[in-house]
Amino acid sequence: MSRYLTKSRFKEALACITKLYYTKKKEEYADTQLADPFLEALAKGGFQVGELAKYYFTDDPVAENITINTLNYEAALAETERRLAMPGRVVIAEAAFKFENLFIRADIVVKENDTLYLYEVKAKSASDENEDTSTFLSSRGDRVSSDWAPYVYDLAFQKHVMAHCAFSCNYQIKAHLTLANKDAAASIDGLNQFFKIIKQDEDGYKVVAPAGLKRNQLGNQILKNINLDEVIEKVWNVFAVPTDIAANMSFVDFVNHASGIYHGNEREFTAIGKKCKTCQYINKNKESGLKSGFHECWKEHTQYSDELLQKPLVTELWGGKAGSQSITQKLIENSIYLLENTKEELIAPKATSQPITGLLPLERRMTQVIKVRDNDTSSYFEATGLKDEMYKWTYPLHFIDFETSMVALPFHKGLKPYQGIAFQFSHHVMHENGTVEHKSQFLATEPGVYPNYDFVRALKHELENDQGTIFRYHNHENSYLNMIATQLETNPDAPADAVALVEFIRKITHRKIGKDTVCGERNMVDLYELVLQYYYSPNSKGSNSLKQILPAVIKDSAYLRQKYGTKGMYGKELAVKSLNFDDHVWIDPNKNHDPYKTLPAVFDNYNREVLDELIKDFDEVGDGGAALTAYNYLQFAEVPHEQRALIADALLRYCELDTLAMVMIVEGWREMMNNL
Ligand code: SF4
Repeated sequence: MSRYLTKSRFKEALACITKLYYTKKKEEYADTQLADPFLEALAKGGFQVGELAKYYFTDDPVAENITINTLNYEAALAETERRLAMPGRVVIAEAAFKFENLFIRADIVVKENDTLYLYEVKAKSASDENEDTSTFLSSRGDRVSSDWAPYVYDLAFQKHVMAHCAFSCNYQIKAHLTLANKDAAASIDGLNQFFKIIKQDEDGYKVVAPAGLKRNQLGNQILKNINLDEVIEKVWNVFAVPTDIAANMSFVDFVNHASGIYHGNEREFTAIGKKCKTCQYINKNKESGLKSGFHECWKEHTQYSDELLQKPLVTELWGGKAGSQSITQKLIENSIYLLENTKEELIAPKATSQPITGLLPLERRMTQVIKVRDNDTSSYFEATGLKDEMYKWTYPLHFIDFETSMVALPFHKGLKPYQGIAFQFSHHVMHENGTVEHKSQFLATEPGVYPNYDFVRALKHELENDQGTIFRYHNHENSYLNMIATQLETNPDAPADAVALVEFIRKITHRKIGKDTVCGERNMVDLYELVLQYYYSPNSKGSNSLKQILPAVIKDSAYLRQKYGTKGMYGKELAVKSLNFDDHVWIDPNKNHDPYKTLPAVFDNYNREVLDELIKDFDEVGDGGAALTAYNYLQFAEVPHEQRALIADALLRYCELDTLAMVMIVEGWREMMNNL
């Protein structure tokens, strides 16, 4: 079979040309990218955008008629050529074009007279200001901005292939990105639900619209077409390709080089760097028997033995920048590959903003390094500063966690692409005498019901009864509450209690107004910030996500292991009150310290960690991907009642654990303080 350089291979080559050797070799090389396109489609929601776009380009009542469905390359090429030869305006979805070893399937192509209009549909948001194409360039205008580069280069690649393909090279080609318009609100309810994602088999899914669906049923247009021919001209002829193969490489040279390498199944080793931090070709499960492309690259570059490369590497160092450069990149450029060899002067920032107490980011990084260097597995714990923080707390303590969704195609009328939906919260309370209870929860997954206002109303009901300190983990809860406050303030059909709801939100959040930060009188305390300042465990390996910190604290706390590793302790009628468990043991002291491992998967065969990875793009602590995926799935009315109930039950249990995890961290710290 021909080894064509396709759109996705081209994208990999741009990220790192060595990846071309490891790609599509699932039997030989480990690949940590999610193996289920169905769940990925659900989580990101973007695949539906391509289906919607078809209705914007054709009057054909059956938009499916414009699609070339065959996966066979030659058949797709022949069909594209046949349709382009037809008289008049022709619209084709999934049109195929080939030039030498380059092959593409274009999302939408419209033929009008002697012009082919190419539309690459992306589930990325754009606004009216992107009509000025200089917004796609760096501030100096000497390259495509790094945010837009993957999209623009993808389009430039497609136009390049079409411009050289035998049956399209005589047309003028105009290339566009079709993007989700974040300035346009859906004028109908249920736009997302029109485009159902259906699982087909192990490897696939398809997006299906109702038979006979017409353009005029879809409301106003929420996608935006932006012509990028001028930018592509620069990509082809002026700008150097952003690759580490060589400086000043032209677009054509890069395409030919990548195509030659992939065609010949060659491996070109390039410099390792910060790009390796997120490389998917790493084997984290040695029992799989698969090779680790990551380790082969690092072995080649460092000439270290396999044994040495099993030690913690600089890619594990808690992230950040040293000056304007990524810390990992700087260390690698200084030939430092093992974490234990990190030099403080290389990772020191130019300036620091000193917190009142606790670890500075540099000190935290050096704590990580020194503990590896000294083979010290004990945790760092700064009791004095934390005690000062605790004196400020008011009982009862409240711990809250939200689950939210954000998709390109809105579920509800009046919402814009990627506008947030808050559909679930959990709430634990810790009383001054140490009693803990799962106090309340909220879950709204009914298709077509917009939950945000009910969500905040229920939260207010739970939190307004006392002045206890409220805890969140990281920024998510604060951001979402502020977003809902804005929705309430700007919605002409806001509910009657909108003013009271906004007042409540302002009281428990903070926000930026100009250069100032305005804090509510009961502004939530961020437990994540307290972790950063007062606690570091080598067991969390530089990650500060709740999922990593919780097992680390449990390992440090005999009290937690005893309390939550005992039957008859945590349940609906037991000492620690639960809303969803009858009698649950969270910790198996002999096996693992990870309570998340005691819960079954939300979806069969996929654990939460894998799904949470999906939303790392827009959530720093990578939390909530599983819940978001489940919510998006439950918006399709056809989900059988039994499955719906099972998923809802799993969501409630997971969210309960998220707030219990925060409680456990505070309980664990208290024990550590008492033991000092
Ligand atoms: S480990 Fe680094 S160099 Fe190797 S393929 Fe991955 S990103 Fe490229």
